[in-house]
Amino acid sequence: MTVEHAFEDCGTYAAYQRHKKRGIPIDDDCKAALREYMREYRENHPDTLKRDRRVATARSRALTRLANAHPGEYSRLLREERQRVLGSNGARA
Ligand SMILES: [Zn+2]
Repeated sequence: MTVEHAFEDCGTYAAYQRHKKRGIPIDDDCKAALREYMREYRENHPDTLKRDRRVATARSRALTRLANAHPGEYSRLLREERQRVLGSNGARA
């Protein structure tokens, strides 16, 4: 399935971030911009990769704890975000 460009600057990392922030499907040019950004990041920040993985693990654990502390709210938010990215019926795209 081809995704249309949502922004005039599609194909840039800034546009990719806007897709993510607004929950808009990401086109191939923005996916390519993300890959290039990440490649450059890894090249320029080799020492931060291990730290980034640890931070991602901490974030994931915190999200799990938050979901367990507030299961109803978490389910509601997850349902809303799923509808945003998958469409109103929640079907897989
Ligand atoms: Zn785009």
